Amino acid sequence: MGEEKEATRRVKRVKEKVAYLKGLIDGADFLAKDEKARTVWENMLAVFDEVGEALEELDRSQTEIEGYLEAVDEDLSELEDEIYGDEEDGYVEMECPNCHETVYLDEDLLAEEEELSCPNCGATLYQSEEEEEEAGKAEAKE
Ligand SMILES: [Zn+2]
Repeated sequence: MGEEKEATRRVKRVKEKVAYLKGLIDGADFLAKDEKARTVWENMLAVFDEVGEALEELDRSQTEIEGYLEAVDEDLSELEDEIYGDEEDGYVEMECPNCHETVYLDEDLLAEEEELSCPNCGATLYQSEEEEEEAGKAEAKE
């Protein structure tokens, strides 16, 4: 287990205070003489005790859920690395205008190649700026 959560520390403080209160009540002279007052205090103490236990239980299951989520998150990251490669920012997400499939293009290839095509349908996705300019000029001449 890692560092203790703030919530866990607070639950422990609550339980400590309930234990302290229990000690006070056990040692209180005025309660020894007053049966009714004693019953009231003991019942209140039982409620505090119950609340403390319930909080502890909740905190335990919350910690369990957090641990589970962390594990799922790690698995997901590993899976993402396997699918998209280890470099987190090495890919550009793009929707193919032809087949509308979301495809991932390698940034390095984007920089090096003059033209990239859709891995799904083969349509041209990307042209270097030079080529686009030339295509523009050609159109203008016509
Ligand atoms: Zn496509």
